[in-house]
Formats: sequence, C-alpha cells, structure tokens
Amino acid sequence: VVAYFNGQFVDPDGAWVPLEERGHQFGDGVYEVIRVYSGRPFLMEEHLERLERSLRVIDIPNPHTREEWAQLIAESVRRSGEAEAQVYLQVTRGSAVRGHAFPGGTAPNVSLVVRPAAAPVHPEDAALLALPDERWPNVYVKSINLLPNVIAKETAKRAGAAEAMLVRAGVITEGASSNLWFVIGGRVYTHPANRYILGGITRQFVLQLARESGVEVVEEAVPFSKLGEVQEVFVTSTTQEILPVARVFTDRRIAPALDTLPAEPPETLLPKVEEPVEL
Ligand code: PMP
Repeated sequence: VVAYFNGQFVDPDGAWVPLEERGHQFGDGVYEVIRVYSGRPFLMEEHLERLERSLRVIDIPNPHTREEWAQLIAESVRRSGEAEAQVYLQVTRGSAVRGHAFPGGTAPNVSLVVRPAAAPVHPEDAALLALPDERWPNVYVKSINLLPNVIAKETAKRAGAAEAMLVRAGVITEGASSNLWFVIGGRVYTHPANRYILGGITRQFVLQLARESGVEVVEEAVPFSKLGEVQEVFVTSTTQEILPVARVFTDRRIAPALDTLPAEPPETLLPKVEEPVEL
C-alpha cells in the first residue's frame, strides 16, 4: 500500500490530515478510483477529465495539470510494486477554520492511496435491492459526500443483495456505487448521463464497446414499473467491471414508496429486513 498527501509519500498507517479540514468536516471534496491492469492505469485520461469537471463544478482549483496527475499516479503505482491495483485519489477544498462558506486563501489537499486490487467476485446469484434514491440531485459530481450511498449499500447487503437499485421519481437511476443496464427486447438501456447519475467511466467504455459491436444501446431511463419487461440486468463500475445480475427484489417494509419520499423522517435509516419479497 502506498499513500501520498500534499507532495509527500507518507506512511499509510501513520498518515494524518488536519482536523479542521474541509473534506473531513464537510465532505467538501471530490475523488476518483482508477483501476490498474498489468501496471497500467486503465482509462486514466477519462478519469482525470471527470475529476477536472467535478472540481470545476464545485469551484475547487485543480491543483495539478493532467501531466502532473499522470506522473503522480505512475510514480505511486511504481512504488506500490503492484501490477493489479486500484488508485484512490481525493481533492478537498483544503484546511481552514470551520465555517460553511468557502474559506479564502486555502490550497486544496490532495491525497492518494494505491492498494492491490483483487479480481472482482461475480456470484452466480447476484441480486439488486430496489431502494428510493435519496441523494441530492447533483450526483454527477463525484463528491466524497457518500452517506446516502453508504446507507443504500449497507441496506442492500443486509438484505442479501450485491448492490442497490436506486429509484428516483419512478425511474431507475443507478446503483450505490455503479451504473445499471437493462436488456429489453434486444436493446440495452442505461440512464442518460445527466445530473441524476454519476456518469461512469466504465459505462462510457461499455457504451463504446456495445456500439462498436453493433449492439443497440439506448441512453434512456427505465421506469421502475417496466421492470417486468426486463430480460437481463448488469452492473458496471471500475472495481466491479461488468457484473451480471440474477435477481431484482424489493421490500415494501424498507421502501414503501419508490417514487415519493414520506414526509415524516424515519427513526433509522437502516431498517430491519426479515425475508425479502420477490418482485
Ligand atoms: N455510480 C456511482 C454512484 C459510483 O459511485 C460509481 C463508482 N465510482 C459508478 C457509478 C461507476 O463509475 P465508474 O465506472 O467510473 O467506476
């Protein structure tokens, strides 16, 4: 494991960030995860481009040029000695006395961790649990604010599912940490890359592969009510690659309404599930 913070390679177990730090206190930052195959970062330019966009949208100056990022990533991977690795990189607004509005005169904090990547596990019976998408409507920014994603993933896990299938305003958006794909009548559907999903780099790559191989792909959201017409489902992400899904289910006790949020705040965000209800 290799760790880096603001210009220095640091001890991954002994590294620290200041307590009064915007990412630490507000989640005021963005990140990327890049997969390394045979020592080479995969689709790195695309990840760096998305990083630039995320930073631009929330007005954090990009602390590095493309070339500097590429060099930093290459050097970190080289130091790790790993051929199959994943690079986590994060940029926050910086260290400052706590206060919601942007502090003036802070430099962004850059951190990076390289870890060995295990080959993704693809269980034969991977399931998705349908849940309401309770995230803010700007999830195209790859922000480190991931509490709704964390809650959705944990809820899915507790129900025995590999991933959540998030539903906003009656349409399926994406997973807690992945994009979703649906085969209906020989066409492949995936949510358009607008503000309601994180436009996955793997999604973009799979779109390109599908088009090159003559598969008809439609960037259109699938309504939750059309799930009965779906013949195949799969998930894509940098770390999961392409995961085939065997089963989709929901539980009315967890998600009584998938298209509207109840006005009353729930007592807990992680409700108990006894047995799943098949759709
Ligand atoms: N959506 C969300 C919410 C994610 O967190 C991720 C993974 N970071 C993805 C989609 C997939 O994106 P990518 O293919 O770039 O890993």
